[in-house]
Amino acid sequence: MAFRKVVKGTVLIGGGAIATVFGLSQFSQYRNKHDNFMYVQAAEPVNIPMKNHFPTREDQFLALQNTSEFDVLVIGGGATGCGCALDAVTRGLKTALVERDDFSSGTSSRSTKLIHGGVRYLQKAIMRLDFEQYRMVKEALHERANLLEIAPHLSGPLPIMLPVYKWWQLPYYWVGIKLYDLVAGSQCLKSSYVLSKSRALELFPMLQKDRLVGAIVYYDGQHNDARMNLAIALTAARYGAATANYTEVVHLLKKTDPKSGKERVCGARCRDVLTGQEFDVKAKCVINATGPFTDSVRKMDDQEVSNICQPSAGVHIVMPGYYSPDNMGLLDPATSDGRVIFFLPWEKMTIAGTTDTPTEVTPHPIPTEEDINFILTEVRNYLSCDVEVRRGDVLAAWSGIRPLVTDPSSKDTQSISRNHVVAVSDSGLVTIAGGKWTTYRSMAQDTIDAAIQAHNLKAGPCKTVGLLLQGAKDWSPTLYIRLVQDYGLESEVAQHLASTYGDKAFEVAKIAQVTGKRWPIVGKRLVSEFPYIEAEIMYGVKEYACTAVDMISRRTRLAFLNVQAADEALPRIIDIMGKELHWSEQKKKEELESAKKFLYYEMGYKAKSEQLTDSSEITLIPSDIDRYKKRFHMFDKEKKGFITILDVQSVLESISIQIDENTLHEILNEVDLNKNGQVELNEFLQLMSAIQKGYVSGSRLAVLMKTAEENLRERVVIPVDRSGGGL
Ligand SMILES: Cc1cc2nc3c(=O)[nH]c(=O)nc-3n(C[C@H](O)[C@H](O)[C@H](O)COP(=O)(O)OP(=O)(O)OC[C@H]3O[C@@H](n4cnc5c(N)ncnc54)[C@H](O)[C@@H]3O)c2cc1C
Repeated sequence: MAFRKVVKGTVLIGGGAIATVFGLSQFSQYRNKHDNFMYVQAAEPVNIPMKNHFPTREDQFLALQNTSEFDVLVIGGGATGCGCALDAVTRGLKTALVERDDFSSGTSSRSTKLIHGGVRYLQKAIMRLDFEQYRMVKEALHERANLLEIAPHLSGPLPIMLPVYKWWQLPYYWVGIKLYDLVAGSQCLKSSYVLSKSRALELFPMLQKDRLVGAIVYYDGQHNDARMNLAIALTAARYGAATANYTEVVHLLKKTDPKSGKERVCGARCRDVLTGQEFDVKAKCVINATGPFTDSVRKMDDQEVSNICQPSAGVHIVMPGYYSPDNMGLLDPATSDGRVIFFLPWEKMTIAGTTDTPTEVTPHPIPTEEDINFILTEVRNYLSCDVEVRRGDVLAAWSGIRPLVTDPSSKDTQSISRNHVVAVSDSGLVTIAGGKWTTYRSMAQDTIDAAIQAHNLKAGPCKTVGLLLQGAKDWSPTLYIRLVQDYGLESEVAQHLASTYGDKAFEVAKIAQVTGKRWPIVGKRLVSEFPYIEAEIMYGVKEYACTAVDMISRRTRLAFLNVQAADEALPRIIDIMGKELHWSEQKKKEELESAKKFLYYEMGYKAKSEQLTDSSEITLIPSDIDRYKKRFHMFDKEKKGFITILDVQSVLESISIQIDENTLHEILNEVDLNKNGQVELNEFLQLMSAIQKGYVSGSRLAVLMKTAEENLRERVVIPVDRSGGGL
């Protein structure tokens, strides 16, 4: 009897829950179809005039040095700091922001690029009946809608597939994902849906099909994180905030409060990192928004304070676009060690990640080979065995540091706060730490509210909900067509400019160089396979780019997409920047060296180039060795045991292929492990062995030698009468 009651109760509750979810999902589908629902309720309009152009870096420096006292000085130019500066300035506060490197050079350019509520956190909220967790998801979903609305050119909804390999998981995940839609309410981007196995494979053909029973697709947002960060900084600058990159806070200024007799923070000593010049910036309130570096600034205020940041590194890898469909991501909710792995299309490439490893705080985190291999192994688990996941296909890799924090006011010092923390020290330093990219705006709002209260600042309410960012005002999804029609840009380039600069794309197009060709009329690409053009480098200088690294990693995203392509583009980028910024030859050389170092260590070039040396053991079978030796000797005709650039040139000439000498040097250099100017037979066999094992891909020498061999063989085999030659 009791058992029947339990079963009946379970069926009723379960059925009721499913019916509610179903009913509400029908409603949200209806809502999606009838698109006149508002995503976000905009705040009151800002009543400060917006400058037409952002000031130059020199103007910003003058403002920093000549303003007798700011209301607010923000330290840190990541998403959080720039969000604080924008919030403060639009409330009418006299605002300054300093960043010691480039805007977004820290964690904010190294994220998974998702604008999300956190499906995982919702699952925890339900399983543990944790209201705080639920509130966090709800807040993030609101912020997701806001961010997509205020910068539509830089962001958009992305469908993400959750492959299901066990029947019982299908209703379980479906209910979970439907609840995610429901919590978003009217801000749900698009309704989630279930897919049959065959439909899932149709949409994601690379998916592992054995045991697959179906899939669930849900929506989150995706953005270009570094450009979004810059858009926030530029918007703040246009509203009048004095924002400067390459300006480091070296210590805090303090004065004694006459009323309480206590020491109060009243500004900071700053150092222009590019010139070494130091100056003071005075402010009623100083905000520490330095992400993983939060403790170093807290210690400038109070040496004795204990650390709150528990840094954790997350690595991502970038693979060619063909690894994922153009517009569908994948989420593996349970990897071999319980982490979540995302596999997402981004800027026509595929991003996979991330890891989660305790780390030291450093401004230059390095992705390790172990991390890269962990991600590759996970990717192999859910891709079809027809798709060979090769180490050599990793085009770039980077590491970012999560600024996880414990709440300094919490008694339990061990527990990491799931949300952000705003704390005001005894001397008035306001610290904002933790949180995530998606919630940067609400974090900034909480911070400026706290700053106003702690420092008695006179300011209006927060204005940033619905406040459009740089480039958003006149952007429309068809704006790129006008760029093609008015300027004669390639369609792919125009689309890229529109989705990067929004309505400011016209300013880039205006300075684009005439190609002299019939088509495209303007817009010279930096490297052939990416739509970045030279004019962006000139424009990037206006957008406060000071170094070649700024240009390859945050104004353009080349370094994040393909390290080799970024390396190839560097000389031209440095030439253009050199002209704009009046660099000497020596300065250009230094820039090249430091950018190469950045690519080598921070963007995975080292790990990539070591694949050949690390896999130096030749594991080819004898028949393959014979085959490759024959190919090698087609070039090394005199059997010297090595090939030089002259050997390659002579073969290429015989088959009418023209490659300039510099490129040929580069091609040989990639394989010339002992750097003696020639490729020995052993080096060639190492290369072919590494290619077979998947450690190396895209070797120009290997493809060139194979093509030449095929060409020469055809010439030998085809009789004259069939080749069309002779009488
Ligand atoms: C691997 C990974 C993936 C992530 N993915 C996502 C995601 O998909 N979606 C999401 O919402 N969130 C994501 N996050 C979280 C998100 O990226 C971070 O929460 C956010 O970027 C932190 O921004 P921030 O401004 O606080 O820190 P940062 O971006 O690190 O900015 C802090 C800045 O302070 C500067 N600074 C430090 N000291 C000084 C000084 N003395 N003077 C001047 N400047 C100083 C630094 O140079 C730095 O630029 C991810 C994080 C990681 C690590």
